[in-house]
Amino acid sequence: MSTRLSDLKEREEGIITHIGGSGAFKTRISEMGFVKGQKILVIKNAPLRDPIEYNIMGYDVSLRRKEAENIIVEDEDSENINIDYKVNSSIGKAFQINGSSEKKIRIALVGNPNSGKTTLFNLASGAHEHVGNYAGVTIGTKTAYFKHNGYRIEITDLPGTYSLSAYSPEEQFVRDHLIKERPDLVLNVVDASNLERNLFLTTQFIDLEIPAVIALNMYDELESTQSELNHKELGAMIGIPLIPTVGSKGIGLSNLLDKVIEVYKGECQTSRRVKIHYSLDLENEVYDLSNEIEEKIPGLHHFPHRFIALKLIEGDEEIVDMVRSVDDGFEIIEGASKARERVEVGLSEKIENIFIDARYGFIDGAL
Ligand code: GDP
Ligand code: MG
Repeated sequence: MSTRLSDLKEREEGIITHIGGSGAFKTRISEMGFVKGQKILVIKNAPLRDPIEYNIMGYDVSLRRKEAENIIVEDEDSENINIDYKVNSSIGKAFQINGSSEKKIRIALVGNPNSGKTTLFNLASGAHEHVGNYAGVTIGTKTAYFKHNGYRIEITDLPGTYSLSAYSPEEQFVRDHLIKERPDLVLNVVDASNLERNLFLTTQFIDLEIPAVIALNMYDELESTQSELNHKELGAMIGIPLIPTVGSKGIGLSNLLDKVIEVYKGECQTSRRVKIHYSLDLENEVYDLSNEIEEKIPGLHHFPHRFIALKLIEGDEEIVDMVRSVDDGFEIIEGASKARERVEVGLSEKIENIFIDARYGFIDGAL
């Protein structure tokens, strides 16, 4: 039976089937994991009192009653839940890293807050032959240099983020770093005990086509829950190798850095470009637009054409501005806006939510 999330009582569970409210609300809430198909449990719901506490994807989250009224759920045992994710992954090409014959690797540490980035950063820079360490000028970035197996590694600890949509200063900062600095490799630190939520960020740099290695950190916590994870298979599906680590105990660091070097040298079988399939309508628009981009504005800051097409359709301001500044850019932006309208009308959904649903769909599929 369908009901409003706010009407579920304590200990009751539901599966999200619809999210109403303003576009901004839907986007914010989706990024917290409130997406179609997701199971949600009520922890605390005192009649007429705010907030209501929920558990979703293993996290406790508080919502105001007014917010929870916008979310429609089906009782867990309801039979006709129809969730149709048109998402899967496809096999892509291996990465080719420029200058990979050089023995110098630039790494960006990226991950959700509290996933263990700083712990791994300190461990890596402290346990190795020290070359240098300085504090950055912005939002507390730190860079360290050290050597591992004859490679000079430059590692930058970035602020924690859940997304790269550029809504918060941290997101903006991490995104700029990835786009402008173009590190050779992203070292994505994930909390193994909260994979679904942590991998949301991962899907965002999959589109950027930057090679990555995942530190499957807090592996001790995953083990203590007795959950089983076939991380090799998961890695093969998302095109990114995962290495179990326990940062606080120094476990797995050496394996992690060995893997970084292997990926950098192009010798890792797991590391490859993977495409997140968005809905069919959107994919068709992206296909046409990427071809147009390739024809009219090739080589734009070395971004993948598909990435530019996706971001233009999504209406990403920064990428729109960048394209506007080049010849023929305006025409491409116009085309992208029309494509966005067609997709939104076709799916009766705001574009942000179409993207977020597809990303969580990709993760759910892989997991
Ligand atoms: P950051 O926000 O990503 O930089 O995370 P921190 O490095 O500050 O780590 C957050 C907390 O998690 C700290 O208290 C760490 O000691 C702890 N921590 C880091 N790695 C692990 C791990 O592998 N297992 C466990 N149990 N705790 C960890
Ligand atoms: Mg930190």
